[in-house]
Amino acid sequence: MQALLFIFSCALALLTSFGAQAQEFRALARILPEASMLEDSGRGGAELTLALSQAVPYRVYLLDDPARVVLDFREVTWSGLAEGFDRSAHVTSVQTGRGDAGWSRMVLLLDTPMGIDRAAMQTDDTDGSAVVHLSLSRISDAAFADRAAEAPPGTRLPPIALSGSVASGRNDGLIMVALDPGHGGVDPGAERRGENEADLMLVFALELREVLLRSGLFDVMLTREGDWFVSLPERLTLARGAGADVFLSLHADAIASGIAQGATVYTLSDTASDAASQALAEAHDRADLLAGVDLAGNDDEVAGVLMDLARRDTAPRAHAMADRIVESFLAANIALHPHPRMEAGFSVLKAPDIPSALIELGFISDAGDLANLLDPAWRERVQIAIRDALLAWAAEDEARAGLLRQ
Ligand SMILES: [Zn+2]
Repeated sequence: MQALLFIFSCALALLTSFGAQAQEFRALARILPEASMLEDSGRGGAELTLALSQAVPYRVYLLDDPARVVLDFREVTWSGLAEGFDRSAHVTSVQTGRGDAGWSRMVLLLDTPMGIDRAAMQTDDTDGSAVVHLSLSRISDAAFADRAAEAPPGTRLPPIALSGSVASGRNDGLIMVALDPGHGGVDPGAERRGENEADLMLVFALELREVLLRSGLFDVMLTREGDWFVSLPERLTLARGAGADVFLSLHADAIASGIAQGATVYTLSDTASDAASQALAEAHDRADLLAGVDLAGNDDEVAGVLMDLARRDTAPRAHAMADRIVESFLAANIALHPHPRMEAGFSVLKAPDIPSALIELGFISDAGDLANLLDPAWRERVQIAIRDALLAWAAEDEARAGLLRQ
């Protein structure tokens, strides 16, 4: 018993030091000034290149009166950005700062209305650094006003302080949910009747984000916000960078033969529940392999023994979360697969320190499931069920953590 207790307290000590290390992994991204630049392009436009020490979630939008381009990053330190950074005649000033709720902001004040032709973040898989490219070109006042009206909700609130630094931290009591719309870009996922999984999951994730945010109890990040390719390891890096408390991957795959319908919730396991689950997990790795991403040994940045300990702690939490989702689906009368709780070796569920689950909302190969996925009312029922499941799970998880601390 003494020995057991000793081992247990060692494990706790290691977990504590893992916590400290996890904090370091969440260190702020830094701007890399020498590789960053803002300059004019042809026909009155401008090009922005921002090099960052690591990939972080970001958003870009326009604000009117005065005309501005706003880039929000979660979260970047701006120190080192030199005077000579802004060489554009059309950008009157560049302001940077940190706001509350974990966002860092860059505002480009424009001397003429410009639209965003292209905004993309490219990440370097070897060192995790990232480069944001933004192309701006001249548009009419009316077009600018239209686009500025599409700024994400919340961003039209009073502007965040842009000079000096405002105290910032994630201790806001919100549950940070990473939503991972499966597939995207060169990998459309399953396709049936002119619909594809990547697009359907993006729509679902954007709506789910709204449902979660509206409750006031969650913060949400998406691993992709458009139709582009994000590798599986990159999805985890983005989630960790945002300080995710939970990770939900969203899918609606097809089966090659036979009949399958209804929702399934997967958690990670080395041994798949059945051959179909195994095939599904392998299919999801295939897009990455085709895109040249090496998944072998890409078990996150956390060192071996710490990772095992973290997984030992995280796995039961993930199982509990998946169970709550299935229960919540049942309670909301959402069609479930005959075996709704399954396990398989999905690479995207391998974050050792973030409870993760993969939800197959249905099978795009089933006409009824596809009709559901295309039905906003059905989607909203599912989204509310997921919200309620996460709240039930979080309360239970907190109670469990409290017991462990005693
Ligand atoms: Zn999928």
